[in-house]
Amino acid sequence: MIDVQDLVVSYGTATALDHITLTVGKGEMVALLGPNGAGKSTLANTLAGLLRPASGSVRVDGRLALIPEGRQLFPDLSVADNLALGGWRSGRRDPSTVYELLPRLAELAGRRAGVLSGGEQQMVAFGRALMSEPDALVVDELSLGLAPGVTADLAAHLAELNRSHGLTVLLIEQNARLAFDLCSRAYVLESGRLVTEGECARLADDPRVAGAYLGGAIT
Ligand code: ATP
Repeated sequence: MIDVQDLVVSYGTATALDHITLTVGKGEMVALLGPNGAGKSTLANTLAGLLRPASGSVRVDGRLALIPEGRQLFPDLSVADNLALGGWRSGRRDPSTVYELLPRLAELAGRRAGVLSGGEQQMVAFGRALMSEPDALVVDELSLGLAPGVTADLAAHLAELNRSHGLTVLLIEQNARLAFDLCSRAYVLESGRLVTEGECARLADDPRVAGAYLGGAIT
């Protein structure tokens, strides 16, 4: 569903992604881990069509939606209007299915997005992405700035959408435990290059991955 081959993305003369090859199959949930500045958001933005590859290719079968890092809501618009903007490309006007999946959004519909808590804002960004009726979702740092309970709640919604709707997910995270709980496979990106990839269970046993991302080996 998502097929990235030999991708190079640069900002001027600085190479942010250096020959990346990565795939996410239909209905799969795959994680992308990496430290600050590794190139994770660059990949997310390239998948969403916001950045142009210098070389290589990006192919997405179906519609892809991005939950961007930092949510990027319109703070002066209501939750309902932020959601409506998500439906702009699909022509979807009615948010009722999104409200069914994320009932808290129905309660918040008339509130200004800018006054919501971080977790509520992330839920709006989630709902806005779903308004475009995506086949694939790229989530750029679900857990960023959120309390563990809020993250767990959003993660449960994501897992449920994957199970019940077959939503394909690329989960970009610095929280490897969360990523390994949710996903079957993961890629590790450092300084614009993929350094390792594989089944999460195997990666969690890899001392380099455990040391860097899990605070020591999982016992
Ligand atoms: P973080 O976890 O901190 O968000 P990231 O893995 O998402 O980091 P990117 O934001 O993709 O990393 O950045 C990758 C590299 O590209 C970094 O060295 C960053 O400084 C650089 N970079 C990102 N955006 C730009 C830009 N608009 N212009 C120039 N350089 C950029």
